Amino acid sequence: MAVQAVESSTGSAGSAGSSVSLGPAVALSCRECGERFPLGPIFACVECFGPLEVAYDLPTGDPEGLRKRIEAGPNNIWRYAPLLPVPADVADKPNINPGFTKLVKADNLARELGVTGELHIKDDSGNPTHSFKDRVVAQAVEAARAFGFTTLSCSSTGNLAGAVGAAAARAGLRSCTFIPHDLEQGKVVMAAIYGGDLVAIEGTYDDVNRFCSELIGDPAGEGWGFVNVNLRPYYAEGSKTLAYEICEQLGWRLPDQLVIPIASGSQLTKIDKGLKELIALGLVEDKPYKIFGAQAEGCSPVSTAFKAGHDVVRPQKPNTIAKSLAIGNPADGPYVLDIARRTGGAVEDVNDEQVVDAIKLLARTEGIFAETAGGVTLGVAKKLLENGVLDPTLTTVVLNTGDGLKTLDAVAPTTGPTAVIRPSLDAFREAGLG
Ligand SMILES: *Cc1c(COP(=O)(O)O)cnc(C)c1O
Repeated sequence: MAVQAVESSTGSAGSAGSSVSLGPAVALSCRECGERFPLGPIFACVECFGPLEVAYDLPTGDPEGLRKRIEAGPNNIWRYAPLLPVPADVADKPNINPGFTKLVKADNLARELGVTGELHIKDDSGNPTHSFKDRVVAQAVEAARAFGFTTLSCSSTGNLAGAVGAAAARAGLRSCTFIPHDLEQGKVVMAAIYGGDLVAIEGTYDDVNRFCSELIGDPAGEGWGFVNVNLRPYYAEGSKTLAYEICEQLGWRLPDQLVIPIASGSQLTKIDKGLKELIALGLVEDKPYKIFGAQAEGCSPVSTAFKAGHDVVRPQKPNTIAKSLAIGNPADGPYVLDIARRTGGAVEDVNDEQVVDAIKLLARTEGIFAETAGGVTLGVAKKLLENGVLDPTLTTVVLNTGDGLKTLDAVAPTTGPTAVIRPSLDAFREAGLG
């Protein structure tokens, strides 16, 4: 049968093909043609090669009961287990329990940017490995367990390798992750510290990703769960938790505008999916919202296509300090374009200098130290406000997806002590600070 053919060519594990139970998940369905497949470690449609995503039997009918159940759940992503492809007892298993990070009402920043509506920063630097990637990896670990994989792997722009390393360590799985050779020290050390194998590839992320696709089809990758390749449909669902948390933290209310960074575009597309689910489940009141995507100018294939009015995303060779977003050939690029256009949003980019300025602006106004991806997102929000594209009177949420301590290199050359002095009061006064 066709499905079996895909499974055997994508590194199937022992239990692949047999029926597995992942909570409310009932099947995989093709985003392009709608064809359905049993839950398994597959990611592309055998009919049309479109990407597969998880289809659910969601708990409709009693929104008040569901809301109470969620609110009584743990202070992490597993409070939303009834809406995720995970077993009901997931919270009791060894895992790193990411999520329920702070939604910071950024009044100082709002004042500085001339925003009169509510401005919030969803600060995902507070996750266990200090980026949003813990959310997606947590789903992939459950899928890996269900399919009997014992090695977790990924192609990574840096944060993902760290999240996989930590989650595998906690779950008692082996990990072997792949990164481009030229990442920041903070990301490399975090990816290696958890004890799994880490392989640096001489090439860009897109080369790393291509290599992983080859490895999946090779006996060397047999029995491996690649979180963002053969487990991608499950992995991607983790980003929905950002949508759930933002709305719950706003008092079960949709924001009017969201500004979201784009690497592969998976996060942005699944935040939209999560918002639509909350509306369908009756957990929030239906109203329009606009989704804005953010890229770095040095890797802006999606914003370039958006501005040119194209439906296809032409690959680029990345050159930017925002390395976590440096994917030149983003898998979900066309879907991001669809969502930005359908919701009345936009996709914009900023240059590296604007990224650094935005990192400093957020730190100076709100005490939040963002990594370069956060600088890209806030920099784009600022630019869209200046261009009159973002409405300053509405409720806006800007995502910070990672921690500035991992990308010190970006700000270190222009950040340091105000003065270096001898330990004397005279010297302090001479420095003009007393
Ligand atoms: C991976 C990543 C993203 C976005 O990833 P997608 O591939 O678009 O889902 C955003 N911010 C940070 C810090 C990341 O590491």
